[in-house]
Amino acid sequence: MIVNGKKQRARLRIGVDLGGTKIECVVLGSSGAELWRKRIPAPQGDYPLTIRAVTNLVQEAERVADEKCSVGIGTPGAISAASGLMKNCNSVWLNGMPFKCDLETALDREVRIANDANCFALSEAVDGAAQGARIVFGVILGTGVGGAIVVDGQVLDGCNSITGEWGHNPLPWPRDGELPGPACYCGKSGCIETFLSGPGIVDDYIRSHGLESHRSQNHGSQEYRSRNHGPQNHGLKNPGPQDHGLRDAGLENRAQCGPGLPIGARDVFARAEAGEPDALACVERYVDRLARALAHVINIVDPHVIVLGGGVSNVARIYQDVTRLWGCSVFSDSVATRLLRNTHGDASGVRGAAWLW
Ligand SMILES: [Zn+2]
Repeated sequence: MIVNGKKQRARLRIGVDLGGTKIECVVLGSSGAELWRKRIPAPQGDYPLTIRAVTNLVQEAERVADEKCSVGIGTPGAISAASGLMKNCNSVWLNGMPFKCDLETALDREVRIANDANCFALSEAVDGAAQGARIVFGVILGTGVGGAIVVDGQVLDGCNSITGEWGHNPLPWPRDGELPGPACYCGKSGCIETFLSGPGIVDDYIRSHGLESHRSQNHGSQEYRSRNHGPQNHGLKNPGPQDHGLRDAGLENRAQCGPGLPIGARDVFARAEAGEPDALACVERYVDRLARALAHVINIVDPHVIVLGGGVSNVARIYQDVTRLWGCSVFSDSVATRLLRNTHGDASGVRGAAWLW
């Protein structure tokens, strides 16, 4: 990179965020300054074209940077520890493919790959809301619920590639009416994700109206019908367990709640803000559940900071409410963990990918 006529010797990092509908690329300077950014539509259903698109973006970024950079990729899935192949991608044409290997061949270097939750937590730990904190738990509350752990600026990566995947643990310390809990696409019931995702809060609100939910499609096209008039809940599909909806924020999913316009999680929070009793009760259940779920994490990981991402992280009241409640469940006389909203928002995916190096 040429700055003021001098070639900068500091290492530049390229981050690529590979989403279902778009691919975004940034070049970060050594201090995290964004030097270049480009977003293109993601090729649909075509694996070789996806490899080509990522390769072209990286090459274009390096022409601008005028040097060979490190390359980190955020993906909507994970690499199977057993096979080395991609798994759990909602961009299903990547599943079963040697994506890392093919990309390394095409780019002639090692690349590092992590899922969206890992990239989010890393981005916030390095130079976001959790900067300077030694142990960081990053949480995405979006269309799904995911998590990742960063210690001393490094993503904790275990032997199953599932570190921090807390959304499919059961909701702890269940209260009356929470068992067995809603059915989850993973095959179990009462997973944290079924309560705390954007669609989860809408489901809860609709249940409180005596209606039954029906999800008909992947990603945000959910329909809800009254118990007596709607189709059965047989079409439940969901993005893979390692795409958590950081990109599409989880508040935009809209659902039918009786007659009238469909509602989304954003509407439930807005109705609570306006004082609607059912919505208020729903949000109070939500923060109580989030407090218990995070207390469970604090008892195991003991993070200095928990940083929230995804659409629900934009709801201002949850920070005070949750920290007021979580002390009841944390095994300590006081809780020093800070609960913070993210700094980088949607850019966390691509920035965290760059920080993989
Ligand atoms: Zn589950």
